[in-house]
Amino acid sequence: MNKYDLIIIGGGAAAFAAANTANSLKKRTLMINDKKILPLGGTCVNVGCIPSKIMLHQGAMAYYSTRNAFKALKISAEADFIEALRETREMVMGFQESNYSKVIAKQEFIDFKEGHGKFKDNHTVIVGNEEFVGENIVIATGASTFIPPIKGIQDIDYLTNDKIFFELDKKPESIIIIGGGAEAMEFSQIFHHFGIKVTVLQRSDRILTKYDADIAKELQKHLIDEGITIHTGTSIKEVKNNNGQVTVIFNNKESKEISINAEKVLVATGLKPHTDNIDLENAGVELDQKGNVKVNEYLQSTQPNIYAAGDVTGLMPLETVAAKQGSIVARNIFQNAKVTINYFEIPHAVFTSPQVAAVGITEEEYMKKYNTCLCKMISWSHVEKAAAIKETKGLIRMVIDPETKVVLGVHIVGHMAADIITTATYAVKNKMTIDDIRDVVHVFPTMSEVIKKVAQSFTANLDDMACCVE
Ligand SMILES: Cc1cc2nc3c(=O)[nH]c(=O)nc-3n(C[C@H](O)[C@H](O)[C@H](O)COP(=O)(O)OP(=O)(O)OC[C@H]3O[C@@H](n4cnc5c(N)ncnc54)[C@H](O)[C@@H]3O)c2cc1C
Repeated sequence: MNKYDLIIIGGGAAAFAAANTANSLKKRTLMINDKKILPLGGTCVNVGCIPSKIMLHQGAMAYYSTRNAFKALKISAEADFIEALRETREMVMGFQESNYSKVIAKQEFIDFKEGHGKFKDNHTVIVGNEEFVGENIVIATGASTFIPPIKGIQDIDYLTNDKIFFELDKKPESIIIIGGGAEAMEFSQIFHHFGIKVTVLQRSDRILTKYDADIAKELQKHLIDEGITIHTGTSIKEVKNNNGQVTVIFNNKESKEISINAEKVLVATGLKPHTDNIDLENAGVELDQKGNVKVNEYLQSTQPNIYAAGDVTGLMPLETVAAKQGSIVARNIFQNAKVTINYFEIPHAVFTSPQVAAVGITEEEYMKKYNTCLCKMISWSHVEKAAAIKETKGLIRMVIDPETKVVLGVHIVGHMAADIITTATYAVKNKMTIDDIRDVVHVFPTMSEVIKKVAQSFTANLDDMACCVE
């Protein structure tokens, strides 16, 4: 009985969401996961969202408690990096088992096969010497770190997120991080908060290029103030081993050649989709220029019975998007639902301290499109809760339609930004105006009032407003 309604190649967030939906539709499904790439659950639970957030939380607790802003509180802390990693790995194993391994076993219509899946043709997947036939197939093979072609990179023992969470067994004294995106920034604080000297080398002229420029620069300022060294506008020329350390030679933004040493180098320079070892050519599935599976708006590949979901599509590499896409492909396959995703309404965040979070269009994008913008940016000092707990670092910007006053984008750097952005997402998704937001009573005093404050700032001078006035 090797015939299925659906075969899913991959075992991460996208695969689980597709399997879950297929199971609820009573469709016979086979999930194939190659544990040599990643154990069941894939990136997020094993080497991504979850372990990074556990490490960030532990590091931040130790680091900020000893530097808290209240005179009465004199707290000392000891943070053991290796013990923190050990406990993180233990917690991950628990989550992995309860949220993935046990879940798959309970799904009545889902079979599981361990191994590496490859296409024989557009209906047949080979695992080892077994063949499985699927009426439909979903490619959910994810992606891993893109290793840039830097001279000498293959000769050094560089770290990636996988190696940190699976292998690292000694605290490095210093680390150079290549990259300036969300992953690089989160790791910069993980290491820094555990007392490791961090230097970030970013090619662009600022960190977090996918975010609003002022918001990203504000985070950059805080990271530098904390003691993280950040070089932007760099071009790396060579990396090499040097007496137990690694030397990185780069041109800085003034084109001056600089050579720095550290015990370790972390590569966090984006993603390479897992599409090069699954014989897609046998199935007639085309790739885009970056090697992602080419899909239409319904996530259908160039071969009509084959769909793709998650990081392998290169559309928006987030756990939330992978899960949504996985569920959508199952509905599009079995119900011809023709569901699409509006990526504009997807919130995303960077879990640094302060956090960065955003949804919708940025001021720069809006200006480029319409050559005008109705945008307001305020500081957190206007939010009473932030002032009361001395967490006023940061900014919030709101972008609205100049005519309808509908909220089109919200961009935040500040305490709890990743939690607060969901409120803004409701506004963007449901096309709420600034008047609608002002009309909503927010709990006082809370950090989420920042959304209301920035909406109020379009028509009122916040400096002249008494606390809690509408
Ligand atoms: C450090 C880090 C932090 C992150 N933090 C966040 C966050 O805070 N929030 C967020 O939303 N996202 C975060 N992400 C992104 C998120 O983890 C990914 O977008 C998401 O996990 C992708 O899911 P996926 O199902 O597409 O792929 P994956 O989870 O990578 O799953 C792919 C699976 O396919 C298997 N596989 C590959 N090829 C084959 C094959 N040929 N045969 C069989 N099996 C195969 C692999 O073993 C793997 O299990 C983070 C990522 C990283 C690296």
